[in-house]
Amino acid sequence: MAGKIFKYVILGGGVAAGYAAREFAKQGVKLGELAIISKELVAPYERPALSKAYLFPVGTARLPGFHVCVGSGGERLLPEWYKEKGIELILGTEIVKADLAAKTLVSAAGETFGYNILIIATGSTVIRLSDFGVQGANAKNIFYLREIDDADKLVEAIIGKKNGKAVIVGGGYIGLELSAALKINDLDVTMVYPEPWCMPRLFTADIAAFYESYYANKGVKIIKGTVAVGFTADSTGEVKEVQLKDGRVLEADIVVVGVGGRPFTTLFKGSVEEEKGGIKTDAFFKTSVPDVYAVGDVATFPMKLYNDIRRVEHVDHARKSAEQAVKAIKAKEEGKQIDEYDYLPFFYSRVFDLSWQFYGDNVGETVLFGDNSPTSPKPKFGSYWINDGKVVGAFLEGGTPDENKAMAKVARLKPTVDSLDVLTKEGLSFASKI
Ligand code: FAD
Repeated sequence: MAGKIFKYVILGGGVAAGYAAREFAKQGVKLGELAIISKELVAPYERPALSKAYLFPVGTARLPGFHVCVGSGGERLLPEWYKEKGIELILGTEIVKADLAAKTLVSAAGETFGYNILIIATGSTVIRLSDFGVQGANAKNIFYLREIDDADKLVEAIIGKKNGKAVIVGGGYIGLELSAALKINDLDVTMVYPEPWCMPRLFTADIAAFYESYYANKGVKIIKGTVAVGFTADSTGEVKEVQLKDGRVLEADIVVVGVGGRPFTTLFKGSVEEEKGGIKTDAFFKTSVPDVYAVGDVATFPMKLYNDIRRVEHVDHARKSAEQAVKAIKAKEEGKQIDEYDYLPFFYSRVFDLSWQFYGDNVGETVLFGDNSPTSPKPKFGSYWINDGKVVGAFLEGGTPDENKAMAKVARLKPTVDSLDVLTKEGLSFASKI
């Protein structure tokens, strides 16, 4: 039997949950109608801050500074905001069972929650080296980064291991952002990843070469083409060494592992349709089960622009999908219709003094333009991806807000190009004049 019953329940208290709550408030929600259930102890916050300013030695970000929706330039939703709006924040509560037929959720402590409409916003969980049986992977001071709790433990270790050695396992977003953050904290940093260059899922070899040289100039060591296969701990259980597959052994006081995540869908296995590792939705984030929506990292949705269905693990989509789902829920109640979700992929990162943005699809041939010298005082360079004679993707490092907007526009409009040489020569001005 359901304990407390709500008209709307958002399961998960991350980025999507916060933006959904704001949209509910905008559209009109009565006191006590909406609850957010989260295993985290704090109100929804902008998760990307955890691998950036949260780790800075100066200018450090701390809550309540980065609660949603500051990341998109909106009002900051403090715990009081939810109270004022009559939105119940049920924190520190992990849901361990979901019965979509009975419309109930059960927490680890045995509480039951009922709902009329459920929005699944459980995000991703990190992939752990212990999942693959890597020896010694449970040693102390081996960290993963997903939630604020993880970041707090890492900050404690950074302070405790001042001037120590850090090994970063993985060359993706987390690897690159954490290597920079630990370097800024004066640790001796070595990155290890198996691929021929960093961020291979997005970066071309040319783009990656710039960042790898820039990191090397900052004193970050990079070891490519091998993986961590074991860890040695001292008598207190703290990690001391990382063994690599190629036989090398690295000293380490801190290890941060960023080898990817997977959408957290286990609670719903077998009870909702899945696709491409996520929960399948329509263009309104409705799942195969009536009254159940899925947003953010867990949703596999129609990407209209590419006539494809995809899952996107980025904050911009978490925000926008949450808003779309709430708009759709409210429109349905009022017998109205809204437009289909028409998403332009947008990814970004900031490290050291650098900042890049990417829009669109990274398929096809590429051209590189601009000043990509890693020793340049203000490097500014980019790439276009050209597929079937059209520009479909645009990357820019060091762009101004207007220039970034131009990159977004070019990726959205997909203009035809006659020759790659022209694109290379025109560079940024090609996008700016569109
Ligand atoms: P999340 O924000 O992960 O929220 C999921 C929530 O669900 C969490 O509160 C979790 O505790 C809760 N939850 C899960 N299971 C349960 C359960 N069973 N019971 C109760 N609660 C549960 N993207 C970018 O575009 N740019 C970046 O620079 C960037 N940086 C990032 C840095 C870090 C360190 C991380 C981890 C991610 C970063 N991302 C970035 C990705 C981005 O943060 C995610 O795509 C986004 O947070 C997804 O939002 P979400 O609401 O779907 O999931």
